Amino acid sequence: LYRSRSAFKLLELDQKYGGFLSKPDVRAVVDLGAAPGGWSQVVAGKMGFDALDEDTTELAKEESSIPGRTKEKTIIAVDLLRMTPIPGVQILQGDMLSLRTAAQIKNFLSRPGNPEGKADVILSDMAANMTGNKIADSESSLDICNAVFAFTKDHLRTEKTVARRKAGVLVLKHFAHPLMTGFRKEYLDPHFTNVAYVKPDSSRAQSSEGYWVCMGWKGLHQGES
Ligand code: SAM
Repeated sequence: LYRSRSAFKLLELDQKYGGFLSKPDVRAVVDLGAAPGGWSQVVAGKMGFDALDEDTTELAKEESSIPGRTKEKTIIAVDLLRMTPIPGVQILQGDMLSLRTAAQIKNFLSRPGNPEGKADVILSDMAANMTGNKIADSESSLDICNAVFAFTKDHLRTEKTVARRKAGVLVLKHFAHPLMTGFRKEYLDPHFTNVAYVKPDSSRAQSSEGYWVCMGWKGLHQGES
């Protein structure tokens, strides 16, 4: 059983975009705004975490010696709210709008199997509490998108270093609004090989929420910061 209905949205996105969560070279996934944990449950399942419990076990040692198998898989779930544990998932309670949280995630990402401390997939299903005021609500959605992009710039592994087209994936929830179109044009389109707007079938029709599925992170261009 999944903890949230949102789990089905992620399953749908993963299926529609080539199973980006279960590629064998995916070592680290960061799930932002993860509570109660449906998306993290999906990720843990796709990454076969039960088979690679601890790298101190004989099984994990054997697995990591097989070429193409990664030594460790890392899943980090972040939320303002407390979360009940999920096998294979490291939980961090914190505010993504604070720089401190990004620094804490970086510490979790840097492990022996992942010395560069990068994530292969960054997911954000974060949403601020809606006030009903359209301007205030779209501004808080934009704040969240800006914070996620700032994190992505520093922590998403680039397509080039993975040598697989469309590697380096960002899934970003947002609320449709002209401000958001500007955000996409300025930050997403120039830096990813492919950006798609998706409204999953499992998302309520009357809600203005949608997702950008951005694949193939190119990194920043020279001179950009
Ligand atoms: N994907 C989740 C699942 O499958 O269970 C559901 C996520 S829910 C729609 C959005 C979450 O974003 C809430 O739990 C909320 O606490 C979190 N959130 C909103 N703003 C946040 C922030 N600034 N930092 C961290 N989490 C935040």
